[in-house]
Amino acid sequence: MSNAMFSSPNAEHINLGSFDVVIVGAGMAGASLAFELTPDLRVLLLETESQPGYHTTGRSAALFSEVYGNDVVRALSRASRTFFDSPGGGFADHPLLTPRGTLFFAAADRLEQLHVVHTEVVRRAPELRWMEGKALLEQLPALRREAAQAGLFEPDACDIDVHSLHQGYLRSARQRGATVICNAQLESAQYANSRWTLQTCAGYCSANLLVNAAGAWADDVAVRCGVEPIGLTPLRRTALVFDDHQSWNCKHWPLAVEIGEQLYFKPDAGRFLASPADEIPSPACDAQPDEFDVAVLLDRLERLTLLRPKRITGRWAGLRTFASDRTPVAGFDTQIPNFFWLAGQGGYGIQTAPALAQLSASLIRGQTMPQGLASHGVRTQDLSAHRLAVTPSAEF
Ligand SMILES: Cc1cc2nc3c(=O)[nH]c(=O)nc-3n(C[C@H](O)[C@H](O)[C@H](O)COP(=O)(O)OP(=O)(O)OC[C@H]3O[C@@H](n4cnc5c(N)ncnc54)[C@H](O)[C@@H]3O)c2cc1C
Repeated sequence: MSNAMFSSPNAEHINLGSFDVVIVGAGMAGASLAFELTPDLRVLLLETESQPGYHTTGRSAALFSEVYGNDVVRALSRASRTFFDSPGGGFADHPLLTPRGTLFFAAADRLEQLHVVHTEVVRRAPELRWMEGKALLEQLPALRREAAQAGLFEPDACDIDVHSLHQGYLRSARQRGATVICNAQLESAQYANSRWTLQTCAGYCSANLLVNAAGAWADDVAVRCGVEPIGLTPLRRTALVFDDHQSWNCKHWPLAVEIGEQLYFKPDAGRFLASPADEIPSPACDAQPDEFDVAVLLDRLERLTLLRPKRITGRWAGLRTFASDRTPVAGFDTQIPNFFWLAGQGGYGIQTAPALAQLSASLIRGQTMPQGLASHGVRTQDLSAHRLAVTPSAEF
């Protein structure tokens, strides 16, 4: 974290104002919700860092796939597609999605897993194509034959312009009246007389509703607000960008994912982006890549593909934060009134952001969920904080 952790000397006396909603965290989750809550509500977005998007939002693989994730995540992704395709005039000056395609591939001993995914998603995604043999290797010539017995090709998957999406949300939210304050880490908050009083590094403020969109720090923010944590776990994931020894004609290759998530890779502006899809438990922090995970990635590239990294041009790690059932949390706290969770987006917080923000805004306004979400199978009970508080046998 930046030096914003240290309060300015007079911060406790600086009044940042009075708001309807204060959102803690200006990553994709906080920015998208600020957009959806304005202009009718007075919204303040607080961010610890000097730049919003410094943490997980700025470290993703930028994929939009309607197959990736569990059923609830898939419903949120399908429901987000409309916004990605038509975000509205002035939101971004070029399309947010670029066709990419995704190829889930499996060796002979993992075919069963590929069949399961196929059966689960084919009803909602009839364009999925099962591939084998020559056709599969023509689609992605860098796969080793023995590692890719069969594949599931999702032609409609896309690359997301994450920067444009995030900046579009922030800019539009500001234009609609939201206030965004960086270098303003939330230190503590008290709820009394139906109102929150918040102390930050930059000053104090008050609000009717506090939204926790603090990514890997969401449980930490809850504690600072006197709210019981919900058991979120940040998991570190590593990514590399490299030049390959061989010059491939790869511009139109899909993103390739080994079905057991040992590896994924895709072309990236003349280079390759790859990840060992690691999930290493981590405290909330400025995550850095670990040499061991880099070595695991290089080994898997060698075993599963014909790629041979010549020069690594970029490496990073980020924290994907999950609830115990690997489903996002978008809903009011079970105990403390006017505390709203928008957290636990795991590895899907970019592609699900539009639907999660729309759903959260409707809950906060006390409105019914937009029909566009319900028709894709989004259900508030699947995302509520309440589901984490009940015993599994009673709920599932
Ligand atoms: C390697 C990798 C690949 C990924 N690939 C994809 C992908 O292809 N597609 C996809 O959809 N998703 C992907 N994800 C996941 C996606 O990036 C996340 O789900 C998403 O960015 C989460 O956004 P967020 O706003 O919740 O978190 P963040 O971006 O981390 O934002 C939370 C913010 O809260 C701030 N904060 C914390 N505590 C406080 C406090 N006390 N006061 C004020 N501010 C605070 C932090 O500084 C931070 O900026 C990937 C993630 C990783 C790491």
